[in-house]
Amino acid sequence: MSNLVTDIEKTVGEHPDATALGYDGHEFTYEQFWAQTGQFAQALADAGVEPGDRVGLYLPNVPQYVLSFVGTLRAGGIVVPMNPQYRSREISHLLSDSGAKAVITLADLVPEVKQVQDDTEVETVVSVGGPAEGATEFDAFLADEMLPVQDREDDDVAVQPYTSGTTGQPKGVLLTHHNLTFDARASAKIHDGIDVDDKFLGVLPLFHIYGMTITMISTLFEGGSYWPMPEWDAEAALELIESQGITHVHGVPAMFNDVVNTPGAEEYDLSSVEFANSGGDSLPIEVMEQFESMYDVELFEGYGLTETAPVTHANRPNDRRPGSIGKTLPGIESKIVDHDFNELPPVEKGPVDDETELDDVVGELVIHGPNVMQGYYQLPEANEEAFTEVDGKRWFHTGDLGYQDEDGFFYVVDREKHMIVTGGYNVYPREVEELLFEHPDVADAAIVGIPDERRNETVKAFIVLKPGAEVTEDEIQQYCLDNLAPYKHPREVEFVDELPRTSTGKVQKFELRDA
Ligand code: ATP
Repeated sequence: MSNLVTDIEKTVGEHPDATALGYDGHEFTYEQFWAQTGQFAQALADAGVEPGDRVGLYLPNVPQYVLSFVGTLRAGGIVVPMNPQYRSREISHLLSDSGAKAVITLADLVPEVKQVQDDTEVETVVSVGGPAEGATEFDAFLADEMLPVQDREDDDVAVQPYTSGTTGQPKGVLLTHHNLTFDARASAKIHDGIDVDDKFLGVLPLFHIYGMTITMISTLFEGGSYWPMPEWDAEAALELIESQGITHVHGVPAMFNDVVNTPGAEEYDLSSVEFANSGGDSLPIEVMEQFESMYDVELFEGYGLTETAPVTHANRPNDRRPGSIGKTLPGIESKIVDHDFNELPPVEKGPVDDETELDDVVGELVIHGPNVMQGYYQLPEANEEAFTEVDGKRWFHTGDLGYQDEDGFFYVVDREKHMIVTGGYNVYPREVEELLFEHPDVADAAIVGIPDERRNETVKAFIVLKPGAEVTEDEIQQYCLDNLAPYKHPREVEFVDELPRTSTGKVQKFELRDA
């Protein structure tokens, strides 16, 4: 039997005195951490949570998140991560759909759970950071005894995160112990593994798969330490990296863009950083270059999805290509297919700027491998759509459009649903966004398609300018016309103070379109 918890138990046995968690001036060793996960697991069992039951973690990045995560798995439970920015309306679907029996949350969020509890199977509510009516405080909840690790098989579900629901109701994603152990180890390997001296910045939200697998689980597997930050703040993150000598920095492009636009950011010493990686969204080349020149640290780009636990592609030391999501991780297969599932040929070398060449090679990226989810929870139709079975292999449809080159590098041009078709021409928003990021006055930018009577859709740019910039809408349009085929240039430009983003840093394009 091997599962996420037995793998972590092995680390505890090997490095009991190493730091597992660092938070708010305190450090917790693996031995202390392990003891509390056992007490938490026993408390869950005492509360009637049985192996296979779901437990909702409705918390920001705090040490109790990590304890509850491992403690739930130790009790044989299934973790249902929930975004702490959600309110009762949003958690209601997650709790009732998953059938969660217990919820661990901030004291301030307990009323959100209470509002919907009667419509769910939640029996136990645990509060972190203070008392709350109808909840047991975290420390008081912990049992005196430690529950032994409950048997779980590789193929048992460990975590059930939900998609963000940009295309309908959020869907529960069934990730098994093996999906997660495989991906955590495979992605750690590409940057030479992790050891006890490594310190991970814990700023990616733990309710999201990128933070969960790549910053938390990978660290705990190898005896490194995890430094949670409850919310994103560029200066606080830089401060933590400098003061604690953080070695591994993972973030989404919006975070790296914030850093390069933070006045005085270049004053921080980031020489401790051995590995920096961006994922979750496309990293504008301009942002990557600015970050690298500011700190003399390479910024790699990787790619993945919740459904693939998450990482499937990554650039790696001595094997990278800016603008690419990198090569497929060993043990995973991926290919680019057309609508009839025929594999499309690679280009000789990417990235490609010639759009006529692109038209013949861009297709959907599909993935097969031990990291691919078991399926969506209780959604047979969605599962039918998500997979294509060929020669005994189950391929997952990512919904992302891309191409590959002969050296094995993959490129994501955009999400299929973001592609704009204007007067019969395809426009990939990312290409226009990359150009806007190169403009000296632009701090942030997003391109969406808006309805147009003549062309069906037309291109619109939302732009955040750098402080003091005086560029006009016409000048932005002319800049695009000078650098792109005319049909790609934004016929409308709107300057905004900031772009609406999800808590994982992705621009909410549907909001911009609706606006
Ligand atoms: P939903 O699927 O509900 O819309 P979501 O976008 O938040 O929610 P995630 O699983 O977090 O779902 O994100 C996966 C998507 O993120 C990928 O399908 C892809 O579109 C995008 N993505 C991730 N990494 C990259 C990258 N390096 N370049 C471009 N896009 C990326």
